[in-house]
Amino acid sequence: MPNSKKTAAKKVRIMDTTLRDAHQSLLATRMKTEDLLPVAEVMDGIGFWSVEVWGGATFDTCLRFLREDPWERLRALKKAFKKTPLQMLLRGQNVVGYRHYADDVVERFVEKAVENGMNVFRIFDALNDFRNIKSSVKAVIKSGGKVEAAFCYTLGHIYNNDVFVDMAKKLEDMGTDTLCIKDMAGLLAPMDAYDLVSKLKKSIGLPIHLHTHDTSAMAVATTLKAIEAGVDIVDCAASSMAGGTSQPPLETMVHILKGTPHDTGLDLKLIGQVTEHFKSVRRKYHAFESEYTGIDPNAIIYQVPGGMISNLATQLKEQNALNRMEEVMAEVPRVREDFGFPPLVTPSSQIVGTQATLNIVTGERYKVVTSEVKNYLKGLYGKPPAPVNADIRKKILGDEAVVEVRPADLLEPELEKARKEAGEKAKTDEDVISYALFPKIFLEFAELRDKGFPPEEPKKPAAAAAPGEAGPTLAPSEFMINVHGESYHIKVGGKGHKSEGKRPYFLWVDNQLVEVLVEPLVEVLPSEEGKISPNVGGRSKRPKAKEPGDVTAPMPGAVVKIKVKVGDQVKAGDTVLIIEAMKMENEVHTPVTGEVKEIHVKEGDSVNPDEALVVVR
Ligand code: MN
Repeated sequence: MPNSKKTAAKKVRIMDTTLRDAHQSLLATRMKTEDLLPVAEVMDGIGFWSVEVWGGATFDTCLRFLREDPWERLRALKKAFKKTPLQMLLRGQNVVGYRHYADDVVERFVEKAVENGMNVFRIFDALNDFRNIKSSVKAVIKSGGKVEAAFCYTLGHIYNNDVFVDMAKKLEDMGTDTLCIKDMAGLLAPMDAYDLVSKLKKSIGLPIHLHTHDTSAMAVATTLKAIEAGVDIVDCAASSMAGGTSQPPLETMVHILKGTPHDTGLDLKLIGQVTEHFKSVRRKYHAFESEYTGIDPNAIIYQVPGGMISNLATQLKEQNALNRMEEVMAEVPRVREDFGFPPLVTPSSQIVGTQATLNIVTGERYKVVTSEVKNYLKGLYGKPPAPVNADIRKKILGDEAVVEVRPADLLEPELEKARKEAGEKAKTDEDVISYALFPKIFLEFAELRDKGFPPEEPKKPAAAAAPGEAGPTLAPSEFMINVHGESYHIKVGGKGHKSEGKRPYFLWVDNQLVEVLVEPLVEVLPSEEGKISPNVGGRSKRPKAKEPGDVTAPMPGAVVKIKVKVGDQVKAGDTVLIIEAMKMENEVHTPVTGEVKEIHVKEGDSVNPDEALVVVR
């Protein structure tokens, strides 16, 4: 219902994001349930509108890295939060993953989430194609949860506040209970927030909830101006987990509003206990801190989310091309324009960012495209906000038809298939859903669970190096490294016997033993006996690429698929290999026409850009 009167002063409600978005933004989503629970009871007494505790990347990281069942986390939190509604972030048809799932997965996920204690579902689509959130909205209503549909706020010449008001009206018509302005990149400037909220208040009759990030240090000002304009609910995190790529600090907002008509009424002493707890917990996770903390003005200059900047930097580092960061940053807006100005949020930020990187490092725009880009241009993520560049689409897709229907309409039901495939590994309906969302990761998790989660410490190296034998320790033999947002647990085992001039070194990466054969450039004095029995095998050496018909990878990666066999006739531009690099699949084309003479790779091989992978003559 339109409300044209000046909004009456009212108490502002707060959603606390400390247990979800704050650690997703600051600590790569790595906080364990055991570190969330100790202050849950205190948090429950504070009087938040809701606490965001689940969804987004938490589901994935629980299974993938934390050896935790995400459903169990939800149940544990529900037990602890007796009064405060629990909230989650749902990526519409992507659920909590990175691709579109069939409707039966979406529906069952929502049903089970409600059953396990979830109350409010913030639902968005990365392209603001609201066909992609219809199923989830319907499922939440049916399951008795509250819907908080969101539009993704972004910038670009096709956007202005009236466009967002139109989006909000559509979401209101879909039956959402509250409306969320999702400023996932911290791009919403204070005065724009005032204007946007004022316009929304005039046009829709729903409570409005602002979500923003402090990436470029505007969040407190933006939140305050939104409150002045009548926003109903705002997102904050406990101050020890706030600021930077996270939300604005809770205590700061509470204090600013104290004694005003918008007073939150929240108790700063209680909040202080939460902040103290997470101050010490955060130290425990320091290995996961993003190197891009603090204020990031690039987020405003390039209109690129903070998290994306660090991802791009890491991708370029892997290509030894960090010096080309400026060029890539300038390419991002061009690719985004070619793609019809999608908001940059999972998964569109990865799709655009990786393509921009490829366009720069390969030296030719769209010479190499990822499978995700193809699917995007085919319409398999939904309808881009503006028309895509027709020439580029033609170059990449040829005459292939573009999908006009809702992408999930093309998907067969997936749940029963998942149930069969997961077999005995899935003990509950929740397990079946976990499998349907992340098959490989769930199976690895379930196997560990079946073994009762054996201690994470690999036994072998400890046993191999008896006390006193290990020699001086100059650096820890066990540490975490972070490679584009993913962390690896590295443990140095030791070295083995030298054979054929090469010495094997043994490392554990995420508790998996890896053997590295090293050929020293300079012969070193024979050292003491290796502490681990060696297992030296031959290592196939690929020829270096020299001729134009030597097909090379554009970047280091792993071979996913070989599309040709020896003797095949190929035309210049034909795909011969699919390489996975930078979390995306990339087609590798033959630069020349001829016959496939040699293939020097097999599926699963790691390859480098200087090697001849396939030889065409
Ligand atoms: Mn966020």
